[in-house]
Amino acid sequence: MGDGLLDYFPAGYTPRAEQRRLLGDLERLLEAPEGVVLVEAPPGLGKSHLAMTLARWSGDAYLLTSQKLLQDQYERLFGAELHLVKGRDNYPCELYPPEQGLTALHGRCRRPRGPRCQCPYARAKAAALAAPIFCTNTAYFATLRQWHGADLRRRRLLVIDEAHTLEAQLAQVFTVAFSTDQMRSWFGAPLPRLADGEAYRPLLGAEVERLQGRLEGLQQRAFDDPAFADLPPSPEELEIRAVLDRIRFFLEAPDTEWVVRYAPEAGSPLELLPLSVAPMARAILFDAAELTVLSSAYLGQRTVFAECFGLEPDQVRVLAAGSPFPLARRPIVYRPVGALSRATLGQLEPALAAEVAGILAAHAGDKGLIHAGSYAAARRLLADLGDRAPRAARRILFVDSSAGKARALDQHRTSREPTVLLSPSMREGVDLPDDFLRFQIITKMPYPDLGDPWTAARQARDPRWYALETAKALVQAYGRGCRHAGDHGTTYILDAQLQRFLARYRPLLPPWFLDAARAALTDAKRTPAALAVVHPPCDHPRLFARHAGLVAGLPCPRCHRWIDRASIPAVD
Ligand code: SF4
Repeated sequence: MGDGLLDYFPAGYTPRAEQRRLLGDLERLLEAPEGVVLVEAPPGLGKSHLAMTLARWSGDAYLLTSQKLLQDQYERLFGAELHLVKGRDNYPCELYPPEQGLTALHGRCRRPRGPRCQCPYARAKAAALAAPIFCTNTAYFATLRQWHGADLRRRRLLVIDEAHTLEAQLAQVFTVAFSTDQMRSWFGAPLPRLADGEAYRPLLGAEVERLQGRLEGLQQRAFDDPAFADLPPSPEELEIRAVLDRIRFFLEAPDTEWVVRYAPEAGSPLELLPLSVAPMARAILFDAAELTVLSSAYLGQRTVFAECFGLEPDQVRVLAAGSPFPLARRPIVYRPVGALSRATLGQLEPALAAEVAGILAAHAGDKGLIHAGSYAAARRLLADLGDRAPRAARRILFVDSSAGKARALDQHRTSREPTVLLSPSMREGVDLPDDFLRFQIITKMPYPDLGDPWTAARQARDPRWYALETAKALVQAYGRGCRHAGDHGTTYILDAQLQRFLARYRPLLPPWFLDAARAALTDAKRTPAALAVVHPPCDHPRLFARHAGLVAGLPCPRCHRWIDRASIPAVD
């Protein structure tokens, strides 16, 4: 790792001025090539090329992406220079006839004493292990290290791209999860709803032996019966093995606090999630290399990041880049229809739909993207537009599930019409440059859903975390608007919560977002009528009367307005 970083810029590409600047700054920072470095750079700056430069410079790197789709993007961009491996379900198992469509996930090698063949999965993994750059996705890498005892030797460098969702991804790796069918089959009935994670310890402790016995019975059949041994491991065999690992970890981690996610509706799955990944992050990630570089548009404050992942703040260094794109190419337009929250939606949604219809009319020939607060909110908006502005509604491609995302994006890109995507799940990982996106609408501030027990528990533990997650989501959505120096796109924000959020949490947002937001607020003030926001009443003073100390100064989980201590009546 001796030469200048620029010497390692991926072959066939020329670094742009802003990439040269960032690499120069990074080079100075990496004179001490150890510890953890956060690289924050706006979308469109070409962070994949920077990550690849670092990997080539180290000559010995793990390069992790947040999603499989991004892994494919790396492969398209850099091809043979990196060795890519995905989860087993992406490769066929060659021991079965192809028409069975069985993947390496069901390979017989997954049984004790199973065969070790040289199939595509085994070859891809062996090649990546021996190569200078091992590229995979974060979830698979963490799963390999934590649950499969994979021999992933310590390397010089670990790069984690799009690392703003890292905490949730790691929490998922340790989650103990049962579907209703699994609970019925393994325990005779759905497990009871208990007050907290701690209460599940004795219950699951008593079930471990039973599950282990069931697994051994299934495996014994494979040893005794050659016909059975030729069959792939059953889904049940694989599921029990996975859940047993996680239950044992849950039982053996008494210092970790666990959150229960178990909706009251019949048929809901039960999940036990670690509230914090701080005790596990070092072993599963940061010990994998001498130097870890995490990149994203925005990763939050250094101290909060360090706390989240069990690091000392002085182990973490930050390099933040500004936006290379002029403000005029990436404006925000603030058109508040009211402070949107669960409590106000019913009242404000007609005004919201009217505003969206107006924006669609103003961009009659442009392609765009509408960020909805949820799938349900997106459906209501589409229905309202259908009545109010049928022509505009026909332009909309509603992405009704995360599974339909790739298809909708394809349709949007190939259609000659001015199509507009509508989705609650396209704030990140979506690249729509130039005419694929000339405007986008953020209908609601992207507060994480406090109806989710893990989010609510995380917010109660650390209110800064909740504000930071909101800031990260907002910055990610804004980043869809302008993808390169020659691009331009307008971002409309319709939720009046923006103004309050900026007033309170301005220090949490990167300067390149703040400059656009400030300009938007200044413009909106020139038309004061636009800021006459409707605030329907919320009963949070009464709801939280007993918890004044906990909730004062935080957003109300129902209406998302800030709660003044003075507004909460004293109780005996
Ligand atoms: S190594 Fe495993 S997945 Fe690959 S062909 Fe053999 S049994 Fe199938």
